[in-house]
Amino acid sequence: MGQKLAALKERLGTISDINSSLAMISWDQETYMPPGAAKFRGYQLATLGRLSHELFTADETGTLLDAAAKEVKGLDYDSDDASLIRIVKRDYELARKLPSSLVAEFAQVTTAAKEAWKEAYHTSKFSTFQPHLEKVLALTIKKAEAYGYKDHIYDPLLDEYEPGMKTAHVSKIFSDLKPHLVSLVEQISERAPSDDSCIHLDFDEQAQLKFGNETIAEFGFDFKRGRQDLSHHPFCSGFTSDDVRLTTRVERDFLSPCLFGLFHECGHGLYEQGVRENLARTLLADGTSLGVHESQSRMWENIVGRSRGFWKFCYPKIQKAFPAQLKSLPMETFYRAINRVKPSLIRVEADEVTYNLHIMLRFELETQMVSGKIAVKDLPKLWNAKVEEYLGIKPSNDTEGVLQDIHWSMGGIGYFSTYALGNLMSAQLYERAQKDISGLGKQIESGKFDGLLSWLRKKIHVHGRKFTANELLERVTGEPLQSRSYLNYIKTKFSDIYGELD
Ligand code: ZN
Repeated sequence: MGQKLAALKERLGTISDINSSLAMISWDQETYMPPGAAKFRGYQLATLGRLSHELFTADETGTLLDAAAKEVKGLDYDSDDASLIRIVKRDYELARKLPSSLVAEFAQVTTAAKEAWKEAYHTSKFSTFQPHLEKVLALTIKKAEAYGYKDHIYDPLLDEYEPGMKTAHVSKIFSDLKPHLVSLVEQISERAPSDDSCIHLDFDEQAQLKFGNETIAEFGFDFKRGRQDLSHHPFCSGFTSDDVRLTTRVERDFLSPCLFGLFHECGHGLYEQGVRENLARTLLADGTSLGVHESQSRMWENIVGRSRGFWKFCYPKIQKAFPAQLKSLPMETFYRAINRVKPSLIRVEADEVTYNLHIMLRFELETQMVSGKIAVKDLPKLWNAKVEEYLGIKPSNDTEGVLQDIHWSMGGIGYFSTYALGNLMSAQLYERAQKDISGLGKQIESGKFDGLLSWLRKKIHVHGRKFTANELLERVTGEPLQSRSYLNYIKTKFSDIYGELD
């Protein structure tokens, strides 16, 4: 290895150690930290964040990057070292484009906006949040201008979470898919609804956790290199591929949050545990984008975890774990309950058919907001009209509508679309996996998940952040992101449950 490349790697190693320590104390904050520790934890987080940012954006990093780039000249595009230079250079240039005054102002404005959002959410008063969101929006526009863009002002905002993805591409995909989804929701709403009372019985919390953890261990989550704890909002944090933390929450009278929450976070965790070891401490040991990360969680949660084949294997086990509730219940009733489709106002409670419509409406409002086509004060009205148009229901207040998500108060404009992109990617990748792995369906029915997991490891996990989402999709499936596979998946699955849909 060249001398400059070695020096660059050493520097990135230090930065990545700071970042993983930062992630560890953030994890602690959400799980075990006593409430009294909040003030000093705030200092610790800020100090580590500043140190990492300063080291990374220093001129010295740029000098090392340029010198190391010469040393790796001629290496293959997909080699670890050429990828390292390419990705870190992209991160470095982006990080240097934001003036520190803007970063500081952004932090200040979003801290106040989060507090205002909380109050507005609890009192259902958008007017409390409106002036704060106007400030966040103004700064977001400044941020987009600082990053720079060619086609759409939303491009650099999307790029923060989904590198390389373009607004025009996402717009096209969403507008192709939307009428189909709206029609499916209409058709399903006219059919007899599934009864989901069987997943709303009394389920012991410890038994739920035990069953969930045993199941994700069968999926392949390695508890010797990871653990599970409780938190208010479930998440997955990988400090390194050998230390991956999942959290979940449990509701005594509802089976889904713990069970499917664990399947979901396990999907993220398997990705983190599967990054190849030689990418450790390089800043490439992470998922390639939020969308690709979400494709992994959605695959295990929905495509596998809510499939009939999987429950053929798993239903006798869950009956054994909860005999009083499920022993005499037919599997089909349970299967329909966990796959009930019902238009709802709240995104995080949405089913597989309606979920993406929640995202599309947010994407449409965000792109229009940042390009100045709509004003913040009109958001509640515009939001409600879209909910009615797409889902056929109407929020009765702003808490059920425009105020339901925390993202905008944190300045996360550009984030939402990655949830839907993840759903689409999960179906596109799984369709390929079905072609590549003979008898995949049968394997899952008999509780064998290593075929799918090793395929995901080889095709996606090992690469860490080396490729963009579209590069990865093209390498694996032969085409960039598309919505066809997702629509096929949804139509086939829910025609089987609700009767022929078109
Ligand atoms: Zn997720």
